[in-house]
Amino acid sequence: MHLEPAWLTDGLESLEQRHLIRPRRLVEPLGDGRSRIDGRDMVDFSANDYLGLARDSRLAEAAAGVPAGAGASPLVSGRSPQYCQLEQDVAAFENTPAAVLFPSGFAANLGTVAALVTRDDVIFSDKDNHASLIDGCRLSGARVQIYQRDRLDQLADHLALAATAPRRLIVTDGLFSMDGVLAPLDTLCDLADTHDAMVLVDEAHATGTLGQSGRGASELLGVEERVTLRIGTLSKAAGAAGGFAVGTTAFIDHLWHHARPQVFSTALPPATCAAASTGLQLITDEPERRHHLAALADSFRGHLSRLGLPVPSGPGAIIPVLLADASTAVEASVALSDHGFFVPAIRPPTVSQGTARLRVSLSALHSQQDIDQLADAIASVIPMEARTRV
Ligand code: PMP
Repeated sequence: MHLEPAWLTDGLESLEQRHLIRPRRLVEPLGDGRSRIDGRDMVDFSANDYLGLARDSRLAEAAAGVPAGAGASPLVSGRSPQYCQLEQDVAAFENTPAAVLFPSGFAANLGTVAALVTRDDVIFSDKDNHASLIDGCRLSGARVQIYQRDRLDQLADHLALAATAPRRLIVTDGLFSMDGVLAPLDTLCDLADTHDAMVLVDEAHATGTLGQSGRGASELLGVEERVTLRIGTLSKAAGAAGGFAVGTTAFIDHLWHHARPQVFSTALPPATCAAASTGLQLITDEPERRHHLAALADSFRGHLSRLGLPVPSGPGAIIPVLLADASTAVEASVALSDHGFFVPAIRPPTVSQGTARLRVSLSALHSQQDIDQLADAIASVIPMEARTRV
């Protein structure tokens, strides 16, 4: 056995002291938005399975008997019939000329951002972007300018200052995963037009849940034709796994050749592709799932406002309960689990210091009664003085 060096044990101790140790939970899905978590049955408000498709038997049936492994990267010999079908299905669902697949949404963001710019270019990145976009920015070697959504005048200034760079790229989540709020996509597209910049939108939490056809924040805000590339994941509303980028044929051909996670990773397994194609089909065929989800989200936001809790205004199924410090958030999460609700505490570094929170993720599998009861439990476990302002 190797000796454990001090930096390692000190680092873990420091996490412990700051209430930042993450438990490894055993989660067994029970259906109907419920899970057995470390042996306790709870209403589960933690998953990204927004439409309740992850455990839908039709996805499992589509994958049954289909090979579990692709055996090679897509550029070599990993492009199975199911993979080709999924590429077509993603492009058709997204109403774009072409799509390229990735092993995960994380890989899609990482690989796409890094393939679009070089060290001579400038990326403009929202301060709340997902880790995979942040890592893609770093990997690209480009200069990264972080911007705040409420200071787009500053973004405009920085874009103007970058006029001599060969390329400018604005990257943003479409629906922010920790706040449940939308990116100002129309203004970002206006700025991109003015300053000749590309716009990349990560639709991870919005695909399947927002927009008339479930294509996400870009559809909801009417900017699909103005966004250069849209990234999505097949692991959340679509109920399977994998990531994708959609855009014009030339952009997708470029990613096919240059996005390293798709060039150098084994292709998505055929069974996963088959399940994901079925998930996309169900998003289209069963719009009532996202309508029910939207009604639940509206109702739950109403509950929180009536309790005097600050509710960031957003259209989606992610609803944060802001509690400032990490220990209050953890205590509230533990107290809610005693009431039979699993609502995770989100702490730094996932969110910035002083903005720890409970994050409620609704699913189409939840009922009105589930969210009414959750609101009652929140009212009873979160003391008035622990409530904060956004
Ligand atoms: N983007 C965002 C905003 C996410 O929240 C996530 C996953 N949590 C991803 C991308 C990565 O998606 P995947 O889980 O498919 O890797």
